[in-house]
Amino acid sequence: MKNLFFVLLITLSLPIFSQSTIIKCGNLIDGKSNQPLGKKAIVVEGKLIKEIIDWDKIPASATVIDLSTKTVMPGLIDCHTHVLLQGDITSEEYDAQLLKESIPYRTLRASVACKIALMNGFTTIRDVETEGAMYADVDLKKAINNGVISGPRMYVATRAINTYGHYGIGNGEYSWELHMPKGIQEVNGADEARKAVREQISYGADWIKIYADRSYYKKSDGGFGSIPNFTQEEITAVADETIKSRKMLAAHAMTPDGILYALKAGARTIEHGTALNEECMDLFVSKGAFWVPTLTVLDYVAEERAKLGSTSYLEMFQGVKPQFKKALQKGVKIAFGTDAGGFDWQKIPQAREFSFYVNYGMTPMQTIQSATTVAADLLDKRGQLGEISKGAFADIIAVDGDPLQKIEVMEKVVFVMKDGKIEKQ
Ligand SMILES: [Zn+2]
Repeated sequence: MKNLFFVLLITLSLPIFSQSTIIKCGNLIDGKSNQPLGKKAIVVEGKLIKEIIDWDKIPASATVIDLSTKTVMPGLIDCHTHVLLQGDITSEEYDAQLLKESIPYRTLRASVACKIALMNGFTTIRDVETEGAMYADVDLKKAINNGVISGPRMYVATRAINTYGHYGIGNGEYSWELHMPKGIQEVNGADEARKAVREQISYGADWIKIYADRSYYKKSDGGFGSIPNFTQEEITAVADETIKSRKMLAAHAMTPDGILYALKAGARTIEHGTALNEECMDLFVSKGAFWVPTLTVLDYVAEERAKLGSTSYLEMFQGVKPQFKKALQKGVKIAFGTDAGGFDWQKIPQAREFSFYVNYGMTPMQTIQSATTVAADLLDKRGQLGEISKGAFADIIAVDGDPLQKIEVMEKVVFVMKDGKIEKQ
């Protein structure tokens, strides 16, 4: 007891920085400010950021991580990934993963994808469906949270929902005698749709993902059309059950036919949204919804799919640049999302997406905000994620060079801290 009292006395008498780590930043971008903050130091205590101080306030005795030659930023957030997918330009590549690989094998591959994401500087991902791997994303999230494997903090959508016969593996693609596995949970009617939402949430879904439209084509007026997958009753049931359960709805939608009814039903995010028009943009703004453009994957698949005879992706992709600019001007909230997994995790860095956004009209700072504060807002985690500020999680990365001058430096993250723990140095 006497010893305990002695330890307590010593602990109480130590200066405030004694149990902290201090990160000395060459230039700090905090995710919130429109200008970099220059030479600063971040005081990290446990999992959290305690405060931001000037260099001259760093005590001589402090434990210092020296990033004084680097640009330091909040850990990045990718709002659209599939860790359980390893690239699928063609349906053959997709089918092979569902038919030839067991879910345990796919989960092992996914654990590598999780590690890649973290090493890329993405300390948080929203993984928007397992593509037939059931609830393996919930297991991956659990393994990461328990320290079994290293990876980003995950928000998961589990199986995703579509209506019967409208998602791969297509019934007509193999012998009709075979019962093919599906990349999503199929539903018919409002009751089944509601049941699927309840089921997925009960198994650990943080988000509900739907596929709102399919079968894309160019219309005579130059716009794009599609077939909405859900009846009004079905999509209303999905959205109602999701929102009532305090979860959020993500909708894959490429054209106005899909985007408009998904937003009206209550989708918080539109995934891809490539052929959006001004009516969609206005609805995004009035609903406060987010557009997750995933340009890296479109660039990756569009040319190849066109060569194989499916030109609609390429046509939509070619038209998205002016729409992106217009959406930006109108104040649509654009959140960073890549669709990694739709392209090979090993081949393309997720940070390639930054260059597209710059080429399409964002300032480099806006692109960084799209992957930090805007993405945190999408996740409803402002103040906790995507910013360097007092009380936020100590998710911190660094790059060599200045991303505001050369955005490509985001593709080479040299330091990663997540939850106050160094993951890469
Ligand atoms: Zn996707």
